[in-house]
Amino acid sequence: MTSSGRVWAHVGQPFQEQEFDVVVVGAGRMGAALSLYLRVTAPHLSVLMVEEGGLPNEEGATILAPGVWTTLGLPTEHTQAARWTREQLQHHLGDVQFQERPLLELAASPLPDGQASADLAAEFPALNTLVDLNALPHARVDRQAATYRPGSVALNAAQQAIKLGANLLLNTRARLTPSGLTLERLTVTNTHQIVTHEVRSVTARSVVVAAGAAGPHLTEHGLGVHTRHGRAYQQYPRLNLPSTPDTPVIRVQGLTLRPQAEAFTLIPAIHHRDPHGYAPAGGHLTGVPTGLRREVLEDLVNLMDAVPALSSEQLQVGRSLSDLPGAWVALPHGQPGAPSPWPPQWEELRPGHFLLLGGPLADTLGLAVANDLAQTLARS
Ligand code: ADP
Repeated sequence: MTSSGRVWAHVGQPFQEQEFDVVVVGAGRMGAALSLYLRVTAPHLSVLMVEEGGLPNEEGATILAPGVWTTLGLPTEHTQAARWTREQLQHHLGDVQFQERPLLELAASPLPDGQASADLAAEFPALNTLVDLNALPHARVDRQAATYRPGSVALNAAQQAIKLGANLLLNTRARLTPSGLTLERLTVTNTHQIVTHEVRSVTARSVVVAAGAAGPHLTEHGLGVHTRHGRAYQQYPRLNLPSTPDTPVIRVQGLTLRPQAEAFTLIPAIHHRDPHGYAPAGGHLTGVPTGLRREVLEDLVNLMDAVPALSSEQLQVGRSLSDLPGAWVALPHGQPGAPSPWPPQWEELRPGHFLLLGGPLADTLGLAVANDLAQTLARS
């Protein structure tokens, strides 16, 4: 039987180890899942996960990700990966609050394989209160869709990986060097500043950067390898109208209303690739400052006729950025508006250095892509 791996949670625990077969930078859902699948498929490879924050990091994309699994609008080449991911979520990752919940897409013009939205109103009464079915007469349904908690996926996958022998170094920022990594073990001073307590270096046969939106920058900086990946700041405003476990997920023109905690989380469409150095800023609604970005506000205002629920006072637009949950998400390859929007992916940047990106479709495809990289590393 394999013995559990080690966890270094704080700088009081001495870290001396110097060599691993695989070091995974970032223990969001992508890095945690990769580590788990590595331990399952290649138990002969030693694994160290390095995470800058906690598990999952409060600031990462994983903890705020909507957790909506759906194949609606997904190019068919991804169907198999989506099914595999769903199977994992439903049966193999412990309690991730997996719940089957239909997803309804509504539109003003006909949709492929669509039907009349009015025909769904009896089955899904929420439609009558949230949207104007006359403005959105067309619909299609994914009855296989499901919702779950991505934060629990990261936590459970990391815990399972550790049980199977993976090691985890928390509160540690990794930097890449051509020959390995330097690790800055972080601590908090009594004036609440985060400072580097000590610097260690490790070598690894393979380094996988699974650092979310920070990944491309980390590799460009550390290895000098230029990538074409982007990132965007995604905000998740809340709509405090009642939802129940039977309420479907509703999607209108790229805006998703995800029933959550007896209300709704809104997942706006991503239009912009935010350049490095860009600091997200709030907008204004009728002259009043909001935490919601201007472009997101414009989208919501344009949808208010079709989705009258959005003009309700229950829409939380905040007064400043910090009022709204938001996170940086990676946009793997491609520009916004590409026909197949940013599926998760991995790539080998140079021998032994890999980049693993989740991004907006990680809810549906992420685990399969992490597993695919694990299989590749197992063979190498
Ligand atoms: P994903 O969905 O791709 O897993 P996340 O943003 O949730 O994306 O996860 C990326 C994780 O990587 C975060 O938990 C973040 O704290 C961590 N991370 C980012 N940069 C570094 C770094 N330099 N060293 C260690 N961990 C990092």
